[in-house]
Amino acid sequence: MDSMEHDRAEHFIEGRWTPPAGGRVIDSLDPATGQVFGRLADGDGTDVDAAVRAASTAAHEWGQIRPLDRGRILNEVARSLRDHLDELSALESGEMGMPVQYAPVTLDAAARYFEYYAGIGPSLQGGHLPVGPAKHSYTVHEPYGVVGVITPWNVPLNQAARSIAPALAAGNAVVHKPSEYSSLSALRAAELAVEAGLPAGVWNVVTGVGERCGAPLVGHRDVAKVAFTGSVATGRVVGEAAARKIMPVTLELGGKSPNLVFEDADLDAAGFWATLAFIGNSGQVCTAGSRVLVQDSIIEEFSTRMVAIAESTPLGREENFPCLGPIANPVQFRKVLSYFDLAREEGAELLTGGGRAEGPGLDEGLYVQPTIYTGVRNDMRIAREEIFGPVGVIIGFADEDEAVALANDTDYGLAAGVWTSDVGRAHRVASRLQAGQVYVNHYFSDDVEAPTGGYGQSGIGREKGMVGLAEYTQLKSIAIAL
Ligand code: NAD
Repeated sequence: MDSMEHDRAEHFIEGRWTPPAGGRVIDSLDPATGQVFGRLADGDGTDVDAAVRAASTAAHEWGQIRPLDRGRILNEVARSLRDHLDELSALESGEMGMPVQYAPVTLDAAARYFEYYAGIGPSLQGGHLPVGPAKHSYTVHEPYGVVGVITPWNVPLNQAARSIAPALAAGNAVVHKPSEYSSLSALRAAELAVEAGLPAGVWNVVTGVGERCGAPLVGHRDVAKVAFTGSVATGRVVGEAAARKIMPVTLELGGKSPNLVFEDADLDAAGFWATLAFIGNSGQVCTAGSRVLVQDSIIEEFSTRMVAIAESTPLGREENFPCLGPIANPVQFRKVLSYFDLAREEGAELLTGGGRAEGPGLDEGLYVQPTIYTGVRNDMRIAREEIFGPVGVIIGFADEDEAVALANDTDYGLAAGVWTSDVGRAHRVASRLQAGQVYVNHYFSDDVEAPTGGYGQSGIGREKGMVGLAEYTQLKSIAIAL
């Protein structure tokens, strides 16, 4: 990628680079250096309208293509994304600070979404309905037409591909509005897709800020469904706008996920992953295991292990993985720092971290120390609110019932972890946890086959897996009198 493409400050509409109608531009800052990394078009409703018109035109033909043939093209898109992993990784590292060894892993998973949905798209089929001999009745899955996809900055193209790949496989055209803090990889991916054979207009990208560019996409008359990934606060706004239009919407929102560590767990593995679960990607992961619930009998030993792992994890996005990159943008950086003040006010006991990280190579960047609190009650704000930084709280429990009660005492319900060597307990606890995704004896999942989504305020609908494909279709039943 040459500097031209970083600096282009244009949308990608109908297979072409398109300047913003209003002529406004956003500087995209590198959070590791504070320097300008690239420039983005600061789009508005006029740009969104142009993209939706392009998508509406393209959707008709794309939706008529035999799914097997759509799949062949989407496999080419996957291949092209893989061929450009280094370039896309450099964009994400530069724009939102993702560690250089981690970015390709998340982008490989982005390519995998295209492969997976290319493969299963043709298997989406309706059924015959047994209504008796007087009628022939059957169902078909139909695409919506134009789907709006709105995504956050934390794992940029990975999260976008999770929605865009199934939407395209199901025969929809997409207008994507990535985060204003991380749009460059999405723009380049859409361009690569067209070069790989995707018809122009099927995948469009408009960039800009939420209220000016995201809101017109949600409200547009010709957008028939929106897939939103982001915070609860914005999800509520998007959900309300969708309700006014009577438009289906999937909401993939935030979390404060519990990670339950029982005394019979493999403590080496649990210690490492319970720590990685909230410091990985500097805690900027929706499913971060930021509430570590530990059985009282091992809490001291386990806390010591976690502190050792946190303190030995290097800071700096060029370090060997695992390492901590910077917080992705100044707004989020200030938010994380404010939680350190809050933790002090609430009387939590700081075990390690608790401030801005300083030192050679870090001073210009938005680095914070990996941070662990103990002496935390589940009703404290630091135990209830999503911080979205490398901050974990440790809370003790006596037994299984108390562990489950604490885990479920949350407004969220995105993910949960369970660490135990008792297979019966693993199943029992997993079934009692109020969360859309449960990991037993591991944490995080990049399995594109496994549905994900929220209980409670963590969202509505499911992404990934077979059900993730069906979310991008509407079901019609047809009956013919014989
Ligand atoms: P955010 O809600 O601030 O922004 C998300 C997107 O919405 C951005 O593209 C933004 O420009 C856009 N937006 C903002 N206001 C809008 C409006 N009024 N109308 C339409 N669009 C608007 O979230 P963020 O800070 O970018 O991302 C962090 C949040 O995302 C965290 O809460 C995290 O948990 C969540 N997240 C959830 C998942 C999941 O799968 N559940 C995955 C990743 C991140």
